[in-house]
Amino acid sequence: MADYQAPLRDMRFVLNEVFEVSKLWAQLPGLAEVVDEETASAILEEAGKVMAGTIAPLNRSGDEEGCSWTDGVVKTPAGFPAAYNTYAEGGWVGVGGSPEFGGMGMPKVIGAQVEEMVNSANLSFGLYPMLTAGACLSILNHASEELKAQYLPNMYSGVWAGSMCLTEPHAGTDLGIIRTKAEPQADGSYKISGTKIFITGGEHDLTENIIHLVLAKLPDAPAGPKGISLFLVPKVMVNADGSLGEKNTLGCGSIEHKMGIKASATCVMNFDGATGYLIGEVNKGLNAMFTMMNYERLGVGIQGLSLGERSYQNAIEYARDRIQSRAPTGPVAKDKAADPIIVHPDVRRMLLTMKALNEGGRAFSSYVAMQLDTAKYSEDKAVATRAEELVALLTPVAKAFLTDMGLETTVHGQQIFGGHGFIREWGQEQLIRDCRITQIYEGTNGIQSLDLMGRKVVGNGGSFYKHFADEIKTFIAGADANLAEFTAPLKAAVENLDELTNWVLAQAKQNPNEIGAASVEYLQVFGYTAYAYMWALMARTALAKQDQDEFYVSKLGTARFFFARLLPRTQSLTASVKAGSESLYLLDAAQF
Ligand SMILES: Cc1cc2nc3c(=O)[nH]c(=O)nc-3n(C[C@H](O)[C@H](O)[C@H](O)COP(=O)(O)OP(=O)(O)OC[C@H]3O[C@@H](n4cnc5c(N)ncnc54)[C@H](O)[C@@H]3O)c2cc1C
Repeated sequence: MADYQAPLRDMRFVLNEVFEVSKLWAQLPGLAEVVDEETASAILEEAGKVMAGTIAPLNRSGDEEGCSWTDGVVKTPAGFPAAYNTYAEGGWVGVGGSPEFGGMGMPKVIGAQVEEMVNSANLSFGLYPMLTAGACLSILNHASEELKAQYLPNMYSGVWAGSMCLTEPHAGTDLGIIRTKAEPQADGSYKISGTKIFITGGEHDLTENIIHLVLAKLPDAPAGPKGISLFLVPKVMVNADGSLGEKNTLGCGSIEHKMGIKASATCVMNFDGATGYLIGEVNKGLNAMFTMMNYERLGVGIQGLSLGERSYQNAIEYARDRIQSRAPTGPVAKDKAADPIIVHPDVRRMLLTMKALNEGGRAFSSYVAMQLDTAKYSEDKAVATRAEELVALLTPVAKAFLTDMGLETTVHGQQIFGGHGFIREWGQEQLIRDCRITQIYEGTNGIQSLDLMGRKVVGNGGSFYKHFADEIKTFIAGADANLAEFTAPLKAAVENLDELTNWVLAQAKQNPNEIGAASVEYLQVFGYTAYAYMWALMARTALAKQDQDEFYVSKLGTARFFFARLLPRTQSLTASVKAGSESLYLLDAAQF
């Protein structure tokens, strides 16, 4: 496997040249003092070094060894605890954390690049700090000042880790039916009892304490999602002076044996009257979780991109080296027995598909991260609200489309290796195994599609969608004539999405099955159209600089490939959406 190299050049291109992100930071009071182009560049460079030098070398060995469980104690693979210390000491766990509690206070758009790097280097490893950062967000936004002061500093510094305990054996997608109970105590705390499954980082040997955020129901809670509350439940109790006290009454019953992310401990967690503290209001636990979810879901989308990037780095090196057969147009490497496989049209198709989807995904996830930053920091109410609505709309697209594209790209990356891609030694098969979970957890991609269509499009009569479509149309209207080769197909794509959105809004009124029948393909049409916008923006920058550097020539070529070969996929997807739900219900359950 090729050594991992952080794609810093492309990250800088996206942030500084395409989005000119420092102009945004300068306008946002919470960021203007904290970050500029130079600081951001130094942070990304340092992150790239740590990920490539310390984290990536443990990816294969971590997969081979996996985690182990003995009598409730979970051991991560060799090298993980030491690497985790390096990572934590570098401040990377708290990169986006609030400076008031010791976080670095970096914007999400920087955090997103760091997440991409750590997950490319080693997704299993990256999950431990990611869950901690997610837990911190819920605590920061919803917990009491006392809990924040007591827990956040040690979590941002990575001394303690976090976990998110939602899923139960009978309740995954449908959290309204969870059974974990929370009994109020005289001192204001709660006793938490129940079993959670599939808990990432529920137990491990990386930190001295793990702070679990647990969804549970009070005895008199209303049925369904409106009866769920959120609790902070430490593995080890924390004394008033911050020192560690007794072990709490909870434990890890076992760990799962999985298809991928084997070095990430996926735990069954048993809470036996464990002491917990309410976060936010009683019965509003899902709201408190949602704060974290837009960040987390974008993060999971980025995991798909990360694995696609790693796979591409391996595949391009292999395609330049491996010689097989002659080019269709005649020998290229005349001194060799055969030509490098990069001469073959099909290998180029796969490589360019990977490159176009990865770079489009990097731009899109950065765009969504900028909306998150605008929503969080803008003091202009209208600007912040628009950004919030864009985040709501685009988050399910980012989660599902980036991870679907992650699977496609990692499979291409394997295919380029031929039979060697199927062999463990080359690492390409691990990337596919690791990628598969990204389409499933944090809400399956099917559920993301329903969220997009049901809540984010139909739920507000298309008003969130209009922000995005209008922005694209404004860009097209203002673009120079020399961009027409990109703006013309982008215009057609956004008009198609407009039409499809209106079609779906109309259908949804007539038959409740239409939303679910259309949603997956609709999300994909949305994703390709969003990437077309990203590619047109990138092409605009690259066109102006193509004489300066090969990088821009490569960018333009990839943009042309995207518009010629990938965007047309929207046509068949559109036809599928418009076929409606009827054919899905021709069989009754027994006829399958
Ligand atoms: C490795 C791993 C790590 C995980 N980490 C965590 C964690 O840290 N914390 C945590 O709480 N959970 C975690 N999970 C759980 C994960 O989020 C759930 O598995 C996921 O949300 C799906 O729930 P489920 O498995 O119960 O599937 P189900 O909810 O049973 O779904 C089964 C299928 O039915 C579909 N489906 C369900 N409802 C609908 C509907 N209304 N419309 C259409 N289709 C529907 C789903 O899309 C899916 O295809 C993890 C899971 C794994 C495997």
